[in-house]
Amino acid sequence: MKINTTGLASFIPEEEIFQWLETTKNPSAERVREIIQKSLNKNRLDPEEMAVLINAEDPALAEEIFEGARELKQRIYGNRIVLFAPLYIGNECINNCQYCGFRCTNKEVSRKTLTMPELDREVEALVDRGHKRLIMVYGEHPKYDAQFIHDTVKEVYGIKKGNGEIRRVNINAAPLDVEGFKLVKSAGIGTYQIFQETYHQQTYKEMHPSGPKSDYLWRLHGLDRAQQAGIDDIGIGALMGLFDWRFETMALLYHTIHLEEEFKVGPHTISFPRIEPAIGTDLCDRPPYEVSDYDFKRLVAILRLAVPYTGLILTCRESVELRNEIIQFGVSQIDAGSNIGIGAYSQEDEESYKKSQFVLNDGRSLDQVIRELCEADFIPSFCTGCYRLGRTGEHFMEFAIPGFVKRFCTPNAVLTFLEYMEDYSSPETRVAGMKQIERELERMPEDDKKATLLERIEQIKNGDRDLYF
Ligand code: SAM
Ligand code: SF4
Repeated sequence: MKINTTGLASFIPEEEIFQWLETTKNPSAERVREIIQKSLNKNRLDPEEMAVLINAEDPALAEEIFEGARELKQRIYGNRIVLFAPLYIGNECINNCQYCGFRCTNKEVSRKTLTMPELDREVEALVDRGHKRLIMVYGEHPKYDAQFIHDTVKEVYGIKKGNGEIRRVNINAAPLDVEGFKLVKSAGIGTYQIFQETYHQQTYKEMHPSGPKSDYLWRLHGLDRAQQAGIDDIGIGALMGLFDWRFETMALLYHTIHLEEEFKVGPHTISFPRIEPAIGTDLCDRPPYEVSDYDFKRLVAILRLAVPYTGLILTCRESVELRNEIIQFGVSQIDAGSNIGIGAYSQEDEESYKKSQFVLNDGRSLDQVIRELCEADFIPSFCTGCYRLGRTGEHFMEFAIPGFVKRFCTPNAVLTFLEYMEDYSSPETRVAGMKQIERELERMPEDDKKATLLERIEQIKNGDRDLYF
C-alpha cells in the first residue's frame, strides 16, 4: 500500500471551530431550547448550534440537554440496545501512538498475533457465550494487510458452534487504500471504523511521532476511500483526553458534514472512547485534557442531539455506573463481556493484561449485562437482519423511515434475544429476559406483524434459529 496524500486538504476548519466556541458563550435558555427542538424534529444540527449546546454550562440547561437526548432516543429508537464484543486479532504495530499500549516503542507489552486455529478458538468461545456481532481489532503492521484482514474475517464467518455463529463482523483497523478496502469489503464486513483520535493537527503530530499513522491527512481521508471502495457503513471517532473535548466534538460534527456532502450519507456510528490506563504508557495516567464524567455525559448527550440519525457506541472502557446512566442518552450499541487480552476469551491467564491495549472498567459478563439491561427495561438485541438483507445504513433507516423500529428492529430484537435465552442464558437472566419479552409484546399493537412474531417465537422455542424480518 502506497500512502499518497497529494491533493488532499483538511476539512476540519480549526479556526472556525475555535470561533464558534468563542462566539456562542453564555447562550440564552430560549436559544438552547430552540436547538433541542430542532433536533427532536429530526434535524442534524449545524456547528454553530452544537457550539451553543457545548457552551450551555448552566446546570439547569445542561439538564435540559440530557432530557432532550433521552427523549430523542425514546421517541426514535425506543429501548433497544445492540450488543457486541471486541475481538483483538494482533497487537503488533509499527506506529508510535503515545497513548496506546501497542505502540512500537513499548517494551512492556507482550506481542501476539492469533494463528488461525487460535482465532477459531476465540470465536468458538465468543459464540459459546451467545455473541453474534463482533468488532475485529488489529494493530497496524505489514502482517495485517488487507488480505490478512479479509482472510481472518472469512475465517470468523466460517465457524459454527452448536446453534450459534457470528453473523456480523465490524472492523477497527488502520486506513487502507481503495483497493485494500475493496478486498476487505468482499469478505462481507459490516462497519469499518477508523478513529481520528484527535482532529487537532498540532496535537495529532505530537501524539503520532512516527509510522504511517503520523500522516494526519491519510487518516482523515481514510473513510472517504472506504466509501469510494463501496463500504457505506463507516464509523468515526475521537479519543477523548488528547485535546479539548469541545473541539473534538465539534470536529466529529464537521467530519459528519463532510461525509454527508461527499457521499450523501453520514457516519453509521460515532465513537468517543476516553483514554484508559495502558501497560507501560504513562501518558494514560495523566491524559493531557482529561474529560470528567460530567463533561463526558454532556458530550454524549450533545452528540446525540447534533447527529440524531447516527448510532452511538459506548464501550467497557467506562464504569458500570456511568454506562448505566449514559445509555439513556441515546447510545445504541454497547459491548459486553469484553476481554481485550489477545487470545483471552479462550485462554485467560495472569499474563493476558500484558497483551492488552488498555484496561477495561466494566468487567461484567454478557449474561450479567443482559440481565441488568432487562431489569432497567431495555431490550437487548443481537439483530443482524438489515445487514443480512442488504439493508445497509440500518441505523439511518431506523431514524428516517417512520415505523421502521416497530416493524423491524423491535421484533428482531425479541427474536434474537429469545435465541440467546434458549441457548445461553443463566436461569436468573432467563427470568428477567422473559419478563422483558412479555413487556415488549404487551406494547405491540394486535396486528398481523405481531401474529407473525408470535409464530416465530414458537418456532424458536421449537428449535428454529436465525429468524428475522
Ligand atoms: N491500530 C488501528 C488504529 O490505530 O486505527 C486499530 C485500532 S486501535 C487497536 C483501537 C482504538 O483504541 C484506537 O483507535 C484508539 O482510539 C483506542 N485507544 C488506543 N489507546 C487507548 C487507550 N489507552 N485507552 C482507550 N482507548 C485507546
Ligand atoms: Fe498501533 Fe492503533 Fe495502538 Fe496506534 S492505536 S499504536 S496504530 S494499535
